[in-house]
Amino acid sequence: MIVGIDAGGTLIKVAYTKKGEVHFEKYPIAEIEQVADWVNNLGDCKVCVTGGRSGVLVSLLDQPAQEMVEFEATHLGVQVLLEKNGTLEDAYLVTNVGTGTSIHCIQDNMQERLGGTGVGGGTLIGLSHLLTGVTRYDEIVGLASKGSRDRLDLKVKDIYEDKEPPISGELTASNFGQNLFAISDGLTKEELLAAVIGLVGETVSTVSVQAARQCRSSTIVYIGSSFIDNPLLKEVVTSYTILRGSVPVFPDNGEFSGAMGAMTAL
Ligand code: ADP
Repeated sequence: MIVGIDAGGTLIKVAYTKKGEVHFEKYPIAEIEQVADWVNNLGDCKVCVTGGRSGVLVSLLDQPAQEMVEFEATHLGVQVLLEKNGTLEDAYLVTNVGTGTSIHCIQDNMQERLGGTGVGGGTLIGLSHLLTGVTRYDEIVGLASKGSRDRLDLKVKDIYEDKEPPISGELTASNFGQNLFAISDGLTKEELLAAVIGLVGETVSTVSVQAARQCRSSTIVYIGSSFIDNPLLKEVVTSYTILRGSVPVFPDNGEFSGAMGAMTAL
């Protein structure tokens, strides 16, 4: 058996082959010892580990494991997933919306990190919890998908009331920028959570589209667990990316890119 593990800030992603088929699993980072026990009980296997918490995981393993730099593992994994989808291009951007967000340009078979933002999946959970008290990720994204951002976000067209704006009126002028002092008590959890996802989605897509200018491609491949069961984030990122002139792609199992790359390297 060969096993690739991406131990990140929030989640541990595992990719492994069994009877020639690839399987994926994910666990909260708090369960790192259980993941190590699982590996230790596998018997004859090869393991490659990547991600910020890979050192901790390796220290819990009974057998030596290969380690791989996270960005290289992600690059390799994205390549494999895009090939499977039949959508692999020569050049593209990868935006990994994990706990934080990291942006990479892939061209000439090399990856270069162009930048990132601290706004990511961690912001999604943290800000959502502070604003509404909701703790669980699935509850946050479920409620958010039922909410509207109209009473919270200020659009360009709201500012240019009777005039033609110089940029698309549909762009957000200010996230949480409406006059909220008057209505703050009456806002629902659904509205607040939708606005948090709007903030995260618009920030990561705006930064990605700007980074695309440094890469000879306008295709942006979005990966990371922040998109799991999160149709609203996908929708915000898709529409904002298209509005800004780039092409969004969400590969199947994109959140397992790092684990897949680590497994493929073996
Ligand atoms: P990392 O590698 O930094 O752990 P991920 O790509 O795994 O990053 O993304 C982590 C983010 O995924 C979280 O911040 C959260 O927004 C989202 N997420 C998706 N599923 C879960 C879950 N079951 N529990 C917690 N966060 C989740």
